[in-house]
Amino acid sequence: MHRIVFLGPPGAGKGTQAATLAQALGIPHLSTGDLLRAAVAAHTPLGLAAEEHMRAGRLVPDSLVLEILEERLARDDATRGFLLDGFPRNLAQAEALDRKTTLDVVVAFEVPTEVLLPRLTGRRTCPTCRAVYNIVTQPPRVPDHCDHDGTLLVQRPDDRPEAVGTRLEVYRSETSPLLRYYTVRGLLRPIDATGDPAAVGVRVRAAVG
Ligand code: AMP
Repeated sequence: MHRIVFLGPPGAGKGTQAATLAQALGIPHLSTGDLLRAAVAAHTPLGLAAEEHMRAGRLVPDSLVLEILEERLARDDATRGFLLDGFPRNLAQAEALDRKTTLDVVVAFEVPTEVLLPRLTGRRTCPTCRAVYNIVTQPPRVPDHCDHDGTLLVQRPDDRPEAVGTRLEVYRSETSPLLRYYTVRGLLRPIDATGDPAAVGVRVRAAVG
């Protein structure tokens, strides 16, 4: 059974690594950011309530995030394990998660702050298949178009420079205290998340065991 959390600042590469690892382990990749973006796109009441917070780079209120996550964790495929990417983001969420399940490992992605900014502002995503590119370090073969399905790539609204500073500050003040929370519980496995995705993937797999 693998019950895994990926912890790290925005732009650390959690989503890219999560997609690969979850597939290799046969467990669902649960990204609260993806779940929230889907709710926004579908114009659900929850999506409407979350949208402004996301656009500004702030955390969405805990009650909304917990609602969307609980619904997803209750589905059959999550009973054999899961990989949480982007949750928990503060102490209240970590405590709520502890009341629901027992974790096996928390992988902490370590990246110097100066590397994060260009990763975030250069990020482009495929709205069809969720593939992630970077216009500088991981460009698609045809500029602005997805390698897999040719869809025009988009920039997330919260990857614009106005929101990126807020997201990094929110990570520092609200999320980074979780490093200590999970160290105390003996769950934290820090990894060097610099370098190309394949090299980072080797470290991630070693950390998960
Ligand atoms: P991400 O894709 O993980 O970078 O998340 C994008 C945005 O969704 C964040 O900047 C928050 O506004 C919101 N979000 C995602 N996960 C959470 C969470 N666990 N708690 C609060 N807000 C979240």
